[in-house]
Amino acid sequence: MTNTVRVRFAPSPTGYLHVGGARTALFNWLFARHHDGVFILRIEDTDRTRYEPEAVQNIMESLRWLGLEWDEGPEVGGDYGPYFQSQRLDIYQKYAQQLVDSGHAYYCYCSPQRLAQMREEQRRRGESNLGYDRHCRYLAARQRADYEAQGIVPVVRLKVPLEGQTSFHDVLHGDTTVDNASLDDLVLLKSDGYPTYHLANVVDDHLMEISHIMRADEWLPSVPRHVLLYDAFGWDIPVYAHLPVILAPTGKGKLSKRHGGVAVHEFQQDGYLPEAMVNFLALVGWAYDDKTEFFTRQELIERFDLAGVSKSPAAFSYDKLEWMNGVYIRMLPPDDLAGRLRPFLEQAGLAADQPTVRRLGPLIQERLKKLSEAVEWVDFVFVDQISYDPSLLVDRKMTAAESLAALRKARETVAALPNFEEETLEAALRALADELDLKAGELFGIIRVAVTGKKVAPPLFGTLSILGRERVLERLDYAEEALENVMRNA
Ligand code: GLU
Ligand code: ZN
Repeated sequence: MTNTVRVRFAPSPTGYLHVGGARTALFNWLFARHHDGVFILRIEDTDRTRYEPEAVQNIMESLRWLGLEWDEGPEVGGDYGPYFQSQRLDIYQKYAQQLVDSGHAYYCYCSPQRLAQMREEQRRRGESNLGYDRHCRYLAARQRADYEAQGIVPVVRLKVPLEGQTSFHDVLHGDTTVDNASLDDLVLLKSDGYPTYHLANVVDDHLMEISHIMRADEWLPSVPRHVLLYDAFGWDIPVYAHLPVILAPTGKGKLSKRHGGVAVHEFQQDGYLPEAMVNFLALVGWAYDDKTEFFTRQELIERFDLAGVSKSPAAFSYDKLEWMNGVYIRMLPPDDLAGRLRPFLEQAGLAADQPTVRRLGPLIQERLKKLSEAVEWVDFVFVDQISYDPSLLVDRKMTAAESLAALRKARETVAALPNFEEETLEAALRALADELDLKAGELFGIIRVAVTGKKVAPPLFGTLSILGRERVLERLDYAEEALENVMRNA
């Protein structure tokens, strides 16, 4: 054993990477980086009934999107592989056999029918949940030979001490002691040669020289069994830190699909920045002090340690995440912002070229909480024809005829401008408002609808400048016609 910190994230590929899993991965990653250690990704795919083929890919993509690169694991390799448990069956079989040979485990030939019957009888006697009755622990050699002769393939069970207690320490939860009598002889190896979670997890944590186990605290009840296994093997026990459960925003119950997106890729598709996600998730169960909320990745690495992790459940606040994402979006330099916005615009079918998006970005940056919201703000820039209800062209305090007159004047004004710079546009249109004795907001509102089709749009002069003279004139012409039609039909 070295003193190197070696930690792992060990997901079961049963579905998408959930934000809870991402938080566990993040804490392990930060801990490894903080201590110059090694972060391992291990895929616990021995439960073939719950296996989802796309899950491994999704988990890896989500981790990479968050910037949680692993030092050992799938696709990167390492000295302790393979890192898929399904490729390590011979290892688990060997260690299960070792425990049988050393008298710490035994073969159990009980059929599912016998086990069901046993449970039924336990229930009838009012002894709920007693677990396995240890029938095969005391088999005579002849009985065993009998079962073998019948061709029954046994499972391997751990011989849990009948008396005494098992204790362990958790950095966050302190000491726990359980009576061994409360634990049943758990299955280590199934009859199909696959290990149970308990065996595979313990064997791998040992063989991969895991120094600290940080995982969701739903696993806390499994620890006594694991400790018994480590003892049976004569292995050292890693340091445990069971991380607090993530609660729904209301603080009632676990976070689940009912409350909103829970898969990391959903947040990605929704337009969250990975750096905002990381900052936000770091604070779900960890704090540096009682006030600091923003951390760069480097600051997180420097400051993260188990001392700051809480054992009490932490609520997941979508509002806070969204707010934080907005702050991160506002910090992006224009080129970076444009590069991140483009995929969202393209996905909405808009031919959003980099130079245009580069100019649009700063106009809407203040207002975005999620990148995906940009589509609604700027789609009008990338379409040939905008469509809107022409009655929007009529200012509330004006008649249609007055609005039309204002539009015509505006068209004349912009057509005659020497250039289409923001400042030029602004000066000319403000002067026009004065000349027409209109409030600036009234005139600009009409022009805004004419060129964007929306009542709410990015700042007007920047927008006009980006659209360019030709398109602005086209849209003003179209607006005049539309308004004339409305008046004719009125
Ligand atoms: N495969 C387990 C899970 O998906 C890992 C638990 C652990 O980290 O020990 O949660
Ligand atoms: Zn049995």
